[in-house]
Parts: sequence; structure tokens; C-alpha cells
Amino acid sequence: MNNNSVFLGDKFYNREHVNFVLFDVLHAEKLAEHEYFSGHDKDTIDLYLNSIDQFAKEYLFPHLVEMDRKQPELIDGRIRVHPVHKDIMRISGENGWISILASKEVGGMQMPSTIATAGSFILAAANYSGVVFAGLTMGAAHLIESFADKKYHDIYLQKMFAGEWQGTMALTEPGAGSSLSDVVSTAEKQEDGSYKISGQKIFISCGDSDVVDNVVHLLLARVKGAPAGIKGISMFIVPRERISDDGSLTDNDVISAGVYHKMGYKGAPIAHLIFGENDNCLGWLVGEENKGLSYMFQMMNEARISVGLHAASISSAAYYASLKYANERLQGRNIAEKAPEKPQVPIINHADVKRMLLFQKTFVEGSVCLELQCSYYADMERVSEGEEKERYNLLLELLTPVAKSYPAEMSNLSTSTAIQIFGGYGFTKDFIAEQYYRETRIHTIHEGTTAMHGLDLLGRKVMMKNGKAVMYLMQEVMKDITSAKQNENTKVHASSLEKKLMQLQELSMHLMGVAQKEGVEAYLSDATLYLELFGILVLGWLWLKMANIANNKSANDDSANKEFMKTKLLCCNYFFEYELPKAEGLLTRLKSTNRVTVNMDSTLID
Ligand SMILES: Cc1cc2nc3c(=O)[nH]c(=O)nc-3n(C[C@H](O)[C@H](O)[C@H](O)COP(=O)(O)OP(=O)(O)OC[C@H]3O[C@@H](n4cnc5c(N)ncnc54)[C@H](O)[C@@H]3O)c2cc1C
Repeated sequence: MNNNSVFLGDKFYNREHVNFVLFDVLHAEKLAEHEYFSGHDKDTIDLYLNSIDQFAKEYLFPHLVEMDRKQPELIDGRIRVHPVHKDIMRISGENGWISILASKEVGGMQMPSTIATAGSFILAAANYSGVVFAGLTMGAAHLIESFADKKYHDIYLQKMFAGEWQGTMALTEPGAGSSLSDVVSTAEKQEDGSYKISGQKIFISCGDSDVVDNVVHLLLARVKGAPAGIKGISMFIVPRERISDDGSLTDNDVISAGVYHKMGYKGAPIAHLIFGENDNCLGWLVGEENKGLSYMFQMMNEARISVGLHAASISSAAYYASLKYANERLQGRNIAEKAPEKPQVPIINHADVKRMLLFQKTFVEGSVCLELQCSYYADMERVSEGEEKERYNLLLELLTPVAKSYPAEMSNLSTSTAIQIFGGYGFTKDFIAEQYYRETRIHTIHEGTTAMHGLDLLGRKVMMKNGKAVMYLMQEVMKDITSAKQNENTKVHASSLEKKLMQLQELSMHLMGVAQKEGVEAYLSDATLYLELFGILVLGWLWLKMANIANNKSANDDSANKEFMKTKLLCCNYFFEYELPKAEGLLTRLKSTNRVTVNMDSTLID
């Protein structure tokens, strides 16, 4: 089975939109004015994105279907994956893509995260399973760079950057999924300073494979005698193969006990691993004992932006496939002229199909803007100081659970909508939409389920530093509302968003009262819905921001693509007419004092 036997789109993403967000909305090229990012000007960014685009088209997209049909298998103790993964890792290493964010001190390129995020969006839109080895290796190497002793930089980083070794994040255990405080893997200090590791990890992405010579696990475990809960979790580097002084590799007692057969995202191997089955697995401490979870948050926060981003990537590809089909499929006639002698029209002419296309497009493009905006805050935090640094940090912290979970949840609906456009064909394997639908389903689960991110947002982030993060976000949004009020195209939408923001603030105050009167369980019982509401308002803000630029470019920039700007205004109009009103139902439920779920007797559900 190759791609040729399946109906695909003509394209999987829109470069013009990526450029619009990068250069017109965020002015990402100006990041090069900061010393840390110097050298990454508009020309080098274009070169980088062109090479990513070419690689995505030549290596990733052509294997999209095949990787879904030939999933990884555990054979003779090793997980075997599609052979193209070897090329992908090799080329990612050769092109410096794995070290793109790393500091020059360790051989990296110090590229702004905003640009690398745009590249990652393109790669995952071509083939999500194809990007996971390099992405995880990048995150694991960043952890070693940030927190591990320098001697480990020398041992691991160059091999990982070159794509010769891969990295993982090994957190989850049979009894510790959402609740990482229950991790029970153990680590016992040895005389030479290493630790003997024992335990099981499940669902480990790229946990084992025949792609590279070594797998470097960044693993959470409890040093014997450590306190219970998250305060007793440490992080270790645990390589699959131990590295001798002469560079040769020997077995480190990490056993692949199984590979999961997943509903989608099948090209990537997810492993069940046993560490220390023969009492001979060694690990090396990262940073200090008992601080492991705080270190892991660096990788988890980066991964969370990637999850939301890649949900948008997959939805982008599904959208373009359904757009192509909607232009080709003839069915029915204009509802006002039903005469049977008239020819049938392409389904894109039906209002409901237009609605489904606009739903996908506004979600995808709004989400790309959200993820790039978050990466931009990360870059600005890096190069700022004092209060300004705190401001970017808090904006990023507040938006991270939203940027992870809202696009992930919406991607399920968006890819489902793509199937709907294909009608009966969408339900078959001869059309790509069903694969995208299966592929994206993981995103509301890994890197923390949506429920956990709702709890993080309402339980921690909105109250962080006495609400300072929310205050900073409101300031950002109000700037764009004020501009949008100056233009006929957007002034009504600006007022709608302003009203909803006030309602959100009233709601947050109301919920604080609930916390005081009824306790934390009632306060947090609908945190997932609060996150959804927050997500709608954030996307509304970003559509208004994009519309402001489109208004400005349409009026003042002769070189601007006027049709493109018109489409941006159309999308903004759609979002405010169709999506923002959905906030009303959420506000009603969230303000209700009827505690359906909290007061429910669990035994009543049969
Ligand atoms: C394809 C895939 C790749 C993965 N990759 C990795 C990886 O590379 N490394 C790694 O360490 N892990 C990985 N995971 C594991 C993943 O992070 C966990 O599956 C996830 O965190 C959920 O944990 P769980 O499966 O134990 O579900 P559970 O924690 O048992 O959750 C089950 C349900 O209960 C809900 N729930 C649980 N607790 C609460 C609560 N307190 N309040 C409200 N609702 C709650 C959840 O929201 C969910 O709906 C991967 C998983 C998959 C499927």
C-alpha cells in the first residue's frame, strides 16, 4: 500500500499563512536583533523553511499511508520500525535540525523557537509519525544541556544532535499516568556515583527501535528513602546501551517487553520497557536528587506546545484533502434552482459544506497562530530581563495548557468534519481523512489529558502571582481590541470579544467564591469546560489580531496579496459569527450552582 492508492490533498499546509503569522503578526525576523538569536534573519529563516518544506514533500508525505499500514513490531527483543525513519534521523542530524534550538556552546544553532515551531508544523502536517524520533531527541538533549553535569554533555549531546542516538521521556508507569506523584521506579546509589535503576515504564514514545545505535532515556525514579509524592522524584539518564570509555556500547539491562498496536499514529513505536530485570541497569543522576519533576517540566512544556501544534498540523492536512474533494465532487444543485436538467454543482457551493470548510480553516490557522505566539513568548523570555522577562514567562505559563489542549480537542472535531465532507467515501480507507482522524486522537491524551490541563489552568495558572498572568494576557488582548474597534470590518467583533472577556473575569471571580464556600472539588469540577471557554476566547483574540493586520495591509500596503487579506477577514468574520457564540453555553454552565457531577452518587450510573 502506498500513497498512490489513497485519495490525498494537493497540499498539506499553507506556507503563506505560516509566513503571515511569522513576519506580519509576530515580526519574528526581528528576533535576530537580540544577540542570542543573531544570524537568523529573514533570508536564513526562508532558507530553513524551504529546506523543511522540500524534506516534508520528498521524505515524509510519500510514506504517510505506508507507515500507517506497516506498524512497528517487536521481533527478537528489538522494535522494528519503517526503514524511512533511519533516513529521517540521518538527514535531521546532518541538517542540524536536532540541535537547532541548542546553544552554540554545545554545538547548537540558537534558532528562535518561533521559527523551529513553524518548521515542526510543516513536518508534522506531512507525516506526524515521521517527526517523533527527532522531536523527542531534541527535547531530551535540551534537558541534558540545561540540567545535567557538563561531563554528560560530552558523552551524549553530539551523538544525539547527529541523529546517531535518540532520546525519550520515560515517565509513565502502570500505576502512574496522570498522577506522576505515584511513580514507583527506584534508583539506588552505587559507590561510583551511578544509580541502579529498577522499574517498568509504559507507553514510552520511541522507547526502543532499530533506527539508531542507542536510546537515551530521561527517566523519573525515586531514590531509595526519598519522600513520598512529587518531592521525592529524581531524573536519570538511562541509556539502552552503556557507554565504555573507548566509546563501545554494552547492554544496560533495558528490556523491550512490548510494543503497543495503536489506533493511529502507527508509524511511531510506543514501548513497554522493563529496567533492571537482571539487576544490572545503571542510570546517572540529572541535577540534584528529588528535583526531577521540576526538570522534566521543561521538556513537558516544550512537548505541550508541540502537541497542540501537531494537532493543528494533522488537521491542516485533513482540511486540504477535504477542500480538494469539495471542489471535485459534483452533487446536488443550488438550493434555489433545483431543476434536474441543470448540471450538478461541486459540493463546495453548498452553504453547509462552506461552513465545514471554514470551521476547519479557522481552527487550523488560529491554532498555528496560537502555537507560534507561545513560542514567540518563549523566545522573548529568553532574551529579556527583569519585569519584562517575568511578563513573557507568565504569558507562556498561562497559555501553555490552553495551547496544548484546546487545539487537541478541536482537532478531533476538525478531522471528523473533514470525513463528513467526503460523505460515505470518508468512512473508507481509500480516502485519507479517516487516517487523519485516527492519527490526531492521541493529542488529548498524551502529555497530560485535557482534564489535567483544565485543572492546571483553573487550579493554578489563573491564580498564579495573584492573577498577574491573566492581567498581562488581558492587556495584550485589549491592545488588539482597541485597534479592531477603529475599523468597520472588525469593530462589532471587537466589542463582542470585550464583552466575553468581562464575562470570563466575572466568572473567574464567581468561581473563587465557589472555592471558598463549597471547597476545591466544586471549584474545579468543570475545569475542562473552563479551558474550552478560555480556548475559544484566545482564538477570538488571535483572529482579531490577524484581522487587524489584514485591514492594515489591505488599506496601506500595495505589495500585499489583497485576496489573501480578504480571506483572513472572512475567517475572522466566520469565527466571531459561528465559534465565539459557543462561549455563551459554557458560561451558562460554568456559572450554574447545580453540582450535577460533584453531588452525583457514582453507583447511580449503571
Ligand atoms: C501514543 C502514546 C504515547 C505516549 N508517550 C509517552 C511518552 O513518551 N512518555 C511517557 O512517559 N508517557 C507517554 N504516554 C503516556 C501518557 O502520557 C498517559 O497515557 C497519559 O498521561 C494518561 O495516563 P493514563 O493512560 O494512565 O490514564 P489515567 O491517568 O488513568 O486517566 C484515565 C482518565 O481519567 C482521567 N483522570 C485521571 N485522573 C484524573 C483527575 N485527577 N481528575 C480528573 N480526571 C482524571 C483522565 O483525564 C482520563 O480521562 C503516551 C501514551 C500514548 C497513548
